[in-house]
Amino acid sequence: MMADSPTPTPYFSITHLSTGYGDHTVLSDISLAVHPGSFFIIAGPNGTGKTTLLRCLAGLSRPQKGTIQINGTLISKLNRKSLARRIAFLPQSVEMAFSLTVCEVVLMGRSPHLGILGVHKEADLALAEEAMAFTDVLPLAHRSIDSLSGGERQRVFISRAVCQQPEFILLDEPTSALDLAHQVRVMDLMERLKEERGMGVIMVSHDLNLAAMYADTLCLIHQGEVAALGAPSDVLEKKRLEDVYGCPLFVEKSPVTGALHVMPIPARLKGPSG
Ligand code: ADP
Repeated sequence: MMADSPTPTPYFSITHLSTGYGDHTVLSDISLAVHPGSFFIIAGPNGTGKTTLLRCLAGLSRPQKGTIQINGTLISKLNRKSLARRIAFLPQSVEMAFSLTVCEVVLMGRSPHLGILGVHKEADLALAEEAMAFTDVLPLAHRSIDSLSGGERQRVFISRAVCQQPEFILLDEPTSALDLAHQVRVMDLMERLKEERGMGVIMVSHDLNLAAMYADTLCLIHQGEVAALGAPSDVLEKKRLEDVYGCPLFVEKSPVTGALHVMPIPARLKGPSG
């Protein structure tokens, strides 16, 4: 008889996590695991705690109850620099205090790896160049970050994260302001990071259709709890989604991609019975 294949050790282990802001509980008793090198997407209605969960995983918000471990170490035991060597975090919007060039922004990704004097070496410059080439922003290297389009800016911040050489990249709605071509470009980049470099990706996204095509694991959050967790084809169940989002939906398998496709139904098409 063949032995069962061993369960992979999780990269992130969240156990009974509850947190919120003051008396306002946002996340209640969340337990889940994220495996190394996986593409993990967090979805759910507005205000259900997706960003709060991502910030907890990035070590930027502290759980009020429960624990988060990274590779078996409590996140609270890791200082900022050692955390930044493991995890790159891309928030919804990045404000830059100074007008920097693209190359200077990407080089900032090396900060957690620099010595006490904080001086870049040749190898750091080479890594920045390589990260810019990977994300297709090398031709923009000497442009000011302020002069770029939304799609270009997004790729520059992804380039900075790649240059950081983390084990996981955490992104908060990176495609929400992008047109269709740029959305797919960002998702393809994340897939290549996973496939070619073994980097894990955790992404908050409202786009269930992109999630269906790219995620290994989809985590649906509703009212601060995990409503469903698993392969997108299991999570994207019509009745469940209608309950969570509170609107009628049409769910079908795309003949092109084979992934599930979710569409809201306009009120005028609902008919008298609703
Ligand atoms: P989501 O990402 O799912 O939209 P968030 O995690 O941003 O949800 O927010 C969850 C809830 O926490 C919301 O009700 C929001 O108003 C509240 N919240 C988020 N950030 C703060 C904050 N800094 N202070 C107080 N309340 C907050």
